Amino acid sequence: MQQTNTFDAIVIGSGMSGGWAAKEFCDKGFKTLLLERGRDVKHLKDYPTTNMMPWEFKHRGEVPYEIKKDNPIVSKCYAFQEDAMHFFVKDTEHPYVQDKPFDWIRGYQVGGKSIMWARQTQRWSDYDFQGPARDGFAVDWPIRYKDIDPWYSYVEKFVGISGNKDGIDTLPDGEFLPAWGLSCIEDHFKSAVESNYKDRYVVYARCAHLSEPQPIHLEQGRGQCQSRNLCQRGCPFGGYFNSNSSTVPWALKTGNLTLRPFSVVHSIIYDEAKGKATGVRIIDTNTKEAVEYFAPVIFVNAGAVNTNLILLNSQSGRFPNGLGNDNGLLGKYFAFHNYRGHISAQYDGMSDKNSTGGRPTSAYIPRFRNVKKQETDFLRGYAATFWGGRWGGPNTDGYGEELKAKLMSKEEKLGPWFIGSQFMGETIPKESNFLALDKDKKDDWGIPLIKFNVDYDDNDEKMVKDFFEQYTEMFTKAGFTNIKTDDSKQAPGLDIHEMRGVRMGNDPKTSLLNKWNQMHNVPNVFVSDGACMTSTSTQNPSLTYMAITARAANHAIDLLKKGELK
Ligand SMILES: Cc1cc2nc3c(=O)[nH]c(=O)nc-3n(C[C@H](O)[C@H](O)[C@H](O)COP(=O)(O)OP(=O)(O)OC[C@H]3O[C@@H](n4cnc5c(N)ncnc54)[C@H](O)[C@@H]3O)c2cc1C
Repeated sequence: MQQTNTFDAIVIGSGMSGGWAAKEFCDKGFKTLLLERGRDVKHLKDYPTTNMMPWEFKHRGEVPYEIKKDNPIVSKCYAFQEDAMHFFVKDTEHPYVQDKPFDWIRGYQVGGKSIMWARQTQRWSDYDFQGPARDGFAVDWPIRYKDIDPWYSYVEKFVGISGNKDGIDTLPDGEFLPAWGLSCIEDHFKSAVESNYKDRYVVYARCAHLSEPQPIHLEQGRGQCQSRNLCQRGCPFGGYFNSNSSTVPWALKTGNLTLRPFSVVHSIIYDEAKGKATGVRIIDTNTKEAVEYFAPVIFVNAGAVNTNLILLNSQSGRFPNGLGNDNGLLGKYFAFHNYRGHISAQYDGMSDKNSTGGRPTSAYIPRFRNVKKQETDFLRGYAATFWGGRWGGPNTDGYGEELKAKLMSKEEKLGPWFIGSQFMGETIPKESNFLALDKDKKDDWGIPLIKFNVDYDDNDEKMVKDFFEQYTEMFTKAGFTNIKTDDSKQAPGLDIHEMRGVRMGNDPKTSLLNKWNQMHNVPNVFVSDGACMTSTSTQNPSLTYMAITARAANHAIDLLKKGELK
């Protein structure tokens, strides 16, 4: 049994980061087992709503009341609609424990959350990697921008990122396909902001879409993005990146990948005599049978929270409190992004202009607070999105070509420009924000439920207030009126950027992973999803997870080749 169940590498989780680990190992000739707790989702075949018209949905796109009532948490996610709700975990299916409220949004299937993500892909900068050391929180990152820069490029070329080279030090440029460009209202805001402030920029938000597919994308079987903006259904063109259209089929094509869906990882097996991890224990979710698999190297990419859960549940005589957890920090200093703030306004100018057609992204305002020096009474800062549109005319009867012509007609009066910005704040990791195993409650497979003790603090409150003040000023300078601020006061979690609990660092006394994402105490176990992050930055994190994973996997491959991981 041990022989048939032995591989060169095991990867846990087939989402955004796990797909990359599997691809790297398979590309370099290593027999790899990719374990996924959910069902398989095959590109094209398993996107049941991808070509449906609005009127073909039984509830015209709305989630039925009964489902919303039974699933209050996932229903808060903007993308949980009738067209994509089959890709989200329902609250009722996989409960968890909230000592403090946490809105945990999940996708348990091959592809994980990469199917439903919003595809925003901004690089982090050295202001992010140097942040904890400069501002004196958390621990120092063991890497700097220069370490990850080539891996960003490596990933971007394969994924396909549409963007402009903006030359801004807070938002490094990458390997970009052409941008769709800014709309006239975004251009207007850009001019207003950049002429009034010397350190604030409005740019086209980089996104994982094929605006002009390159041979490497065609080789993946992917094609041009059609700007349908129906991405959360899965794209019939492969126009945006998800693991299902890209890394997983690529790895399968090598013949080196064994993909095992319906396999929930219970724990990692630690062999005390050998002083290393030897494999993983899974439960087949259909048969409830426990099975063990073995490999000299294990990548844990189950999504930040589940990665913490697996490691906390990997208990042995040597590690009674969870794998590698000598310092007791596993699960601690958990952090997220604060998405509570929203600001809207109206613009009465440019009434002769409108936007036409679709576009998969919006504008982005990189962080400008506390970047080069501490200038406010809170630590770190925030980025924001920006978008605008016109709607609401007196005569929008009709449909199809007739309606389109009316909407575009100069005679038909549309309403004014409506404008919005979404706040994206960095949260400061703190020991009091932690994940732990519930002592009593278990799931259907006998695995303890994860328990959240995560909350905002005073720093977050001050940052939201500053966002409202600064954006009110910027909106006013741009001539916007009817400015309204909204603090949703939503619980942590809806940002869907869970991070930390297994942080990287230089010192084994204060961190769990080294600069190559290896556990300090169990070097053949690598963690390279959100759990590994040392701080959270303001940028959407998935591009960084992918780059860190590609870097870590190639380091593991070097070690395997040198015989240093047996
Ligand atoms: C609506 C939405 C919008 C988003 N927008 C953006 C965005 O614009 N930009 C951005 O950067 N990020 C965005 N995100 C977040 C992004 O999707 C995640 O950061 C990313 O998917 C995380 O990658 P991952 O590999 O860590 O986890 P996932 O992609 O979630 O993959 C983890 C996989 O592990 C599996 N798994 C879990 N536990 C186990 C276990 N015990 N055994 C076996 N398998 C297991 C899961 O089923 C899943 O398939 C968004 C997410 C959502 C839902």
